Amino acid sequence: MNVDKSIPKTAQLVVIGAGPGGYTAAFRAAELGLDVTLIDPEINPGGVCVYRGCIPSKALLHVARLITDTAAASAIGLNFAPPEIDLPQVRQWRDEVISKLTDALGARADKLKIRRIRGSARFKDAHTLTITTGDGQDELSFKQAIIATGSWPIRLPGTAADSARIIDSSKALAIDDIPKSLLVIGGGYIGLELGSVYSALGSKVTVVEMTDGLLPGCDRDLVSVLKRRLDNTFTEILLSTRVAGLKETKRHVQVTLEGKDGQQSQRQFGKVLVAIGRSPNSNELGLETTAIRLTDKGFIEIDGQQRSAEAHIFAIGDLAGEPMLAHKAYAEATVAAEAAAGRRALFDPRAIPAVVYTDPEIAWCGLTETAAREQKIAIKTAKLPWRGNGRALSLGRDDGMTKLIVDAKSERLLGVALVGPGAGELIAEAVLALEMAAVADDLRQTIHPHPTLSETLADAARMLIKT
Ligand SMILES: Cc1cc2nc3c(=O)[nH]c(=O)nc-3n(C[C@H](O)[C@H](O)[C@H](O)COP(=O)(O)OP(=O)(O)OC[C@H]3O[C@@H](n4cnc5c(N)ncnc54)[C@H](O)[C@@H]3O)c2cc1C
Repeated sequence: MNVDKSIPKTAQLVVIGAGPGGYTAAFRAAELGLDVTLIDPEINPGGVCVYRGCIPSKALLHVARLITDTAAASAIGLNFAPPEIDLPQVRQWRDEVISKLTDALGARADKLKIRRIRGSARFKDAHTLTITTGDGQDELSFKQAIIATGSWPIRLPGTAADSARIIDSSKALAIDDIPKSLLVIGGGYIGLELGSVYSALGSKVTVVEMTDGLLPGCDRDLVSVLKRRLDNTFTEILLSTRVAGLKETKRHVQVTLEGKDGQQSQRQFGKVLVAIGRSPNSNELGLETTAIRLTDKGFIEIDGQQRSAEAHIFAIGDLAGEPMLAHKAYAEATVAAEAAAGRRALFDPRAIPAVVYTDPEIAWCGLTETAAREQKIAIKTAKLPWRGNGRALSLGRDDGMTKLIVDAKSERLLGVALVGPGAGELIAEAVLALEMAAVADDLRQTIHPHPTLSETLADAARMLIKT
């Protein structure tokens, strides 16, 4: 670990925030020969993704999956006793996963001779930062900057940040305890993933979602496969329902729920997880001292090279717009670092995959069927249920589906969507196919290993090709 105590007076390139966006940008810029200073409050890089997001949630989802899979194994003649959950040991294992990654990222930064400052930065003007560390404040002037300060969980108005019972995703991932009952507010991917974890660990989980479906933005036919399973996992899923009031008592949270018809009901829960979305970290940065412009949602306005209205200042990751996903941040980071180093670079992906790591998983990339229909794009679709796939059946799971969305005339792939165990791994092939401008016949003619779930991609393509 090599975190600088002394703050230099000037920097060639300063990167603010060391999440997936910030550390990727810092690494790439250093590889290209730039002198890089990386500022973040944590001792090692990682950001929300590694410390409080993607990684701990997937570690805990693995724990959940072991619990639910062993419970389900009685159907194939394997009877396991219910697990004894050693929560401190689970937490320790989760922390080991995190520190293996963050230590490795710190070591890589040191190897690339990146100057690291542990603290937070704020713009004094378009060429100067005020940096606050444990030792006080200092100023740093810079030639170029990449802002990668990410996002924070949106709080429900009137709820206290330090509440032990009304928690956000970071506190949920801490798994301080397993409440008897948990209300998850928000049917997006974070709420469903964390709800699945707590349900497997023994909480009775209720999900409340304001709109009329889970996972807004995802095609309904995929969601319905997931919902069928979640209806058995969760105690209740309340759609078209809003939380009209929350009152924390000593032992519970008293919740007022309001249905579409305006009818209110009172419920009590041990804990409430608020997972209603995330907001970009742009308001505490002193951006008003620069010419940088924000969108109405608080994202920094950028061009195709991630440059803000101040051409020497770039913005990447959650701060630079939707989708707020780590792999989008990685890709934008590389573009920004290369542009900062004077290379030709442009952020112009054909497909950014999205994965929901529930059981079953949902994954999609490119155009969704819903968007195609809304935009009146002429498409053909192939929907292949996994019932006939040998690998799915041998895994004891046939609740999957592979869907291809192709241009009606050229049969060029426009989008791919999957639901089923392992969908998150399978989508990678589809992303490559979209990037390479593949047509359905390319998927059909590609020899897929047998027996695998990946064969469903070729089999779905076969459904489209009649001659
Ligand atoms: C529970 C959960 C699960 C998730 N799961 C997934 C997933 O499975 N896959 C996926 O792709 N995405 C997932 N995400 C989203 C993913 O974590 C974010 O998209 C990603 O972390 C964004 O990266 P970033 O570099 O933009 O910012 P962040 O990771 O948010 O990092 C920003 C960093 O900047 C620091 N910072 C903030 N302000 C300042 C300042 N003024 N000065 C210096 N440093 C500052 C912060 O402390 C932080 O370390 C998940 C998020 C959550 C909350």
